[in-house]
Amino acid sequence: MLCVSFVADVLARLTWRCGPGRVEGTERLTTPGGGSVAAVVTPAPCGATARRRTAQMKADDCAVCAAPLPPPSLRVPDVVVDASLLPASPAEARAVPRGELALARCPTCGLIRNLAFDPDLVRYEPEYNASQWASPAFRRFAEDLARDLVDRYDLDGGRVLEVGCGRGELLAVLRSAGVAVAVGVDPSFPPEAAAELPDGVSVLAEHFSPAHASLGGDAVLCRQTLEHLEDPLTLVRTLRHGFPAGSRVLYVDVPDAAAVFGGSSTWDLVYPHVNYFEQGTLVRLLVEGGFSVLSSGVTFGGQFAFAEAVPGSDAPSVPAGPGPADLAHLGRRVRQERARMSELAEAGRRVALWGAGARGVTFLDLVDEPRAVGAVVDLNPAKQGRYLPGSGHRIREPAELLEFRPDVVLLPNPVYREEVAGMLSGLGVVAELRPV
Ligand SMILES: [Zn+2]
Repeated sequence: MLCVSFVADVLARLTWRCGPGRVEGTERLTTPGGGSVAAVVTPAPCGATARRRTAQMKADDCAVCAAPLPPPSLRVPDVVVDASLLPASPAEARAVPRGELALARCPTCGLIRNLAFDPDLVRYEPEYNASQWASPAFRRFAEDLARDLVDRYDLDGGRVLEVGCGRGELLAVLRSAGVAVAVGVDPSFPPEAAAELPDGVSVLAEHFSPAHASLGGDAVLCRQTLEHLEDPLTLVRTLRHGFPAGSRVLYVDVPDAAAVFGGSSTWDLVYPHVNYFEQGTLVRLLVEGGFSVLSSGVTFGGQFAFAEAVPGSDAPSVPAGPGPADLAHLGRRVRQERARMSELAEAGRRVALWGAGARGVTFLDLVDEPRAVGAVVDLNPAKQGRYLPGSGHRIREPAELLEFRPDVVLLPNPVYREEVAGMLSGLGVVAELRPV
């Protein structure tokens, strides 16, 4: 029997705010190879106590294949729980709630799970700031995806459903690509965003249920959602249960664990992602949920794993199992980047960081021990003038780089390299642009 209330509950938490709390200490980020690097712990006011699960953590079963998970092989204490917070002062920014990552990898299917994840640490409100949509590169990706799905699955004039649609940006893009009716379900959808939706696009600010699954007449999408769920298989089974007869495809994508633990997405290591999927793990999840996988792969510069599926029980045409993700990768990257930051600091170089998103927060928190970064900029006007959770940097608009005169601009998300290079050039800022 489906645990529908649980699905509703977890989908209600796709956006979040933190409760009070703070962890202090000088714990260590350890790697399976036995090496360890000190984890950055920023100074913070005493007194608050964050809820942690370390003491009562127990062996857990894999959320995809149900195999027993081994003990965590990578621990990162004190990560910022909510990188989307916009603190109003440096002190507030340094005192944001923190939680622990205790990552274990399933030997059978490759799922990487945070065994220390505490759902009580994250709170969800309709204020999620989908800053990716401020980027022209991300918008191009979304437009290409919509056009591709419309072409290959004959969705022109059709009807689609998106589960976990945020403010409905992708639904609007699908509408522009020819879809006639685009419906989203997301309990965090802010009422004021309804006025921005074009004709033919609507969003139900409700918890997801099997009844909603049937709204996807011709296609169902679920983007960047499964990684937030403690029990993603229940959502997949619910989608299967309500999948409309005649609907042509289920499209899902998630951050690719192989890119986070081994590729160019190292700093996409964020507390709300309780599970990390490689391509083969995502395939296995869909198969376990009653789908037959038509295709899978990676997209968005190799940062997302995606799969397309229809109900069925055929053996997948792509491998459903562990890929190249390597939990030891993070420790190596942290050590490598810390050494490079120390070199910059010792050389007296002026260093800026582009992007006040989750990756910027994670990078500064884990890597910038010497406090080499003197300026953080972001395109999103809502972030400018506020302070970065964790490090407490003031978030500046990119034009302020003219005054700051950086020698080096760090870019925690290399997929935006071309876009940022163009913007720096347009501003007249001459600096080395360094993906990290
Ligand atoms: Zn597994």
